[in-house]
Amino acid sequence: MEFFDLKKQQEKIKNKFLKRVDKVLDHGKYILGPEVYELEEKLSDYVGVKHCVSCSSGTDALLISLMANNVGQGDAVFTTSFSYIATAEVAKLLGANVIFCDINYDTFNICPLSLQNEISRAKEKKLNPKAIIAVDIFGLPARYRELEDIAESNSLYLIQDMAQSFGSSIRSKKSGTFGDISATSFFPTKPLGCYGDGGAIFTDSNILADLARSIRVHGGGKDKYDNVRLGINGRLDTIQACVLLEKLTIFDEELKIRNQLSDYYNENISNKFQKQHLPADYKSAHALYSILAESREHKTIVLENLKKQNIPFGVYYEKPLHLQGVFKEASNQDLSIVSDISSRVFSIPFHSYLSDKEKEKIVEVVNDS
Ligand SMILES: *Cc1c(COP(=O)(O)O)cnc(C)c1O
Repeated sequence: MEFFDLKKQQEKIKNKFLKRVDKVLDHGKYILGPEVYELEEKLSDYVGVKHCVSCSSGTDALLISLMANNVGQGDAVFTTSFSYIATAEVAKLLGANVIFCDINYDTFNICPLSLQNEISRAKEKKLNPKAIIAVDIFGLPARYRELEDIAESNSLYLIQDMAQSFGSSIRSKKSGTFGDISATSFFPTKPLGCYGDGGAIFTDSNILADLARSIRVHGGGKDKYDNVRLGINGRLDTIQACVLLEKLTIFDEELKIRNQLSDYYNENISNKFQKQHLPADYKSAHALYSILAESREHKTIVLENLKKQNIPFGVYYEKPLHLQGVFKEASNQDLSIVSDISSRVFSIPFHSYLSDKEKEKIVEVVNDS
């Protein structure tokens, strides 16, 4: 049994992908080739946004998003502590002061109330609030209506970290359209993944899109040898665009199956485990299926039982960001919900190619623990 199953998926797209690679070998434009621009157009159509700027990873998508609005030294950036390191790392890398917020018990996403409190506290301390990075944890979009209000009333730049939520939506509006700018990842195991590193930025702003395109290629002006601002090497490889173009053709079908699997788990896994709450009119991209055991000790027992039965599992994330060594200045922040949830959370196998027998077995082992 696999935790993610990229092999079965590969069988579906392999021939068409290889045909595309043949074409790339013929034209030889290995970086930012025509397939990259074809992909950007298809992705912006899919999301329903004006601009897609592809790039080298989800981390770089976040970094470029911050750089496009001059976030850096002396600025305070607010984000959730319950995420992958990349979310907060990029802000610190630019010299910003990262302020972590607590999360909601039901959705595991950033708590708007905690965010508002942290912004007020930062203002009192004469810090300079500049940006919010909201994360759509496990594929579920954060509370963007409230977050957009908070961002607007405090004049803050709102970035959607949708590395786990490509394909998700709120009231039929897709992720990639929330906040000022959105950043996603095409890491192989993300909902839409390539065969290496890749990422993309989405925005309706012509200004931000132009800046992102420039920063992606060393801050180029007229061309890459005319450098008008600081930038990075943040381009997407053409062969990765070929993978994504083919995966996009089966993406909705896979998403539908992942939705059904999530429904199956929600209905059949015992209520002693707390599930991620899907608010009305929200659709998750279901990057991971994560639930909470009753206690840290209970989680240990469940994981031992899964291991005994050779069922793979994951723990996202056991150590919250504010307790990571790299953010030791934040370690005195009291984020009780993040601390509690990260002590009890674990994830079970979740992909479009699980058999009925495998699903039943997983549910049985979890429920008996
Ligand atoms: C994966 C991930 C990233 C980083 O994406 P990479 O493509 O691995 O750089 C950022 N934020 C979150 C929430 C992620 O899950």
